[in-house]
This record gives sequence, structure tokens and C-alpha cells, in this order.
Amino acid sequence: MMLQLETISAECRSLGIFGGTFDPVHHGHLILAERALEALALDQILFMPAGIPPHKRGGAAISPAADRVAMLKRAVYGNSRMAVSEYEIMRSGISYTADTLDYLHSQLPTVDLCLIIGADNARDFRHWRKPDDIARRARIAVLRRPGETLPTIVFPGADVMVVDAPLLDISSTEIRSRAASGRSIRYLVPENVAEYIAANALYSV
Ligand code: ATP
Repeated sequence: MMLQLETISAECRSLGIFGGTFDPVHHGHLILAERALEALALDQILFMPAGIPPHKRGGAAISPAADRVAMLKRAVYGNSRMAVSEYEIMRSGISYTADTLDYLHSQLPTVDLCLIIGADNARDFRHWRKPDDIARRARIAVLRRPGETLPTIVFPGADVMVVDAPLLDISSTEIRSRAASGRSIRYLVPENVAEYIAANALYSV
């Protein structure tokens, strides 16, 4: 089963979907996911690493999906309210959120879906594929991000909520660059993720 539904509890009525590249997952993602869980009274959060992200990095190399998934699984290990899906990774072609939400809805028709996005993505949301379909399918939770202004309207008619959480100036880009130059990434990512990065020399040049 591509969605790995066994990681979604049978009691789950409200599911947050947190998409991204997660190259690597960092404590910003995890702290904000936890705040979204609480603020939106979600039962679980499903991290959805993108296979071929449609709007990322203009062609620069992205770590293999297997590594990005392995790091996410380590990061959420032991937390039954957080799960990782390989659905977008196993699909061929570009991953569009609208298609992913359709699939989730078809598999979990009674579950209320909530899409979690950072302020940078909230600003671009209207240019995503089928934003009206996304807005019909899911509530949208927006995370503030340092240096990014929140759009006044994410999309007309969308059910949007801004998550009350600390501003965290952490990015995967900074972590990759620190790792590549041999600087410390300790406390920016969970310890077992830092170990994985070191053991696999993920961002070494
Ligand atoms: P990169 O630096 O490679 O672009 P990233 O740190 O932005 O990566 P992504 O995997 O692209 O991480 O992020 C997934 C989602 O999490 C996106 O919606 C992004 O806006 C959001 N996000 C990531 N880091 C933060 C942060 N520190 N504060 C708020 N939102 C964040």
C-alpha cells in the first residue's frame, strides 16, 4: 500500500499533511509540526516528502528519496502521532499536492484533512496546480517564517489558520551548507538524523 495506511491510526479523524523536500528534516519542521498538531487539534501529522518537487531549487541536486525518508523516519521514531508517507515518492512524475489530497481523501474519506505550509509556500499557493481543489479538500495551516511576510489572502474562500508558534530561523539549506563545510549541525536536527548524515556523508562535497 503506497500510503502506508498502517501508520495512520484507525481513530484518526483529523490529519495534518506536511509536505516538503525534507533534505534534511530539521527541528524547525518538528517543532512547528508539534505546534500545528496542538493548535488545530489534529490526531496525527503525516510527513509527505516530495518525489520530484515541482517548485524547488531550479535543478540543483536533491538527496535520494530513500535518504530523505530514512531521516524523516528517524526524526519521528517513537512518536505515534507523527508518520511518514512514501506516496509521493513512489508515484511517477511530479508530485502535485492536489493529486495527493485527492488520493488521501479516497483512502480516508471520513478524515478531515489539513494542509500545513510555511509562509513562503503560502505566498505562492495561488500559483500551485488546482489551488481551488486543494482549498476545497483541506483546511490550510500556515507557519510563520523569518523573513517571509504572510499573505493577507492565501486563496479566496480557503479555510486558513495561522499557527501560533515561535519564529524559527532554521532551513535545510543552511544545514546542508554547514554539513558541507564541516560545521556543526548539532541541535539543528535530531541527533539520530545528524548521525545518519555523517554516516552517509550526505552533504559532503
Ligand atoms: P530548503 O532550505 O531546502 O528550501 P526548508 O528548510 O524550506 O528547505 P522544506 O522541506 O522545503 O524545508 O520545508 C517543508 C515545509 O516546511 C515548507 O512548507 C516550508 O515553508 C516549511 N518550513 C521549513 N522550515 C521552516 C521554518 N523554519 N519556519 C517555518 N516554516 C518552515
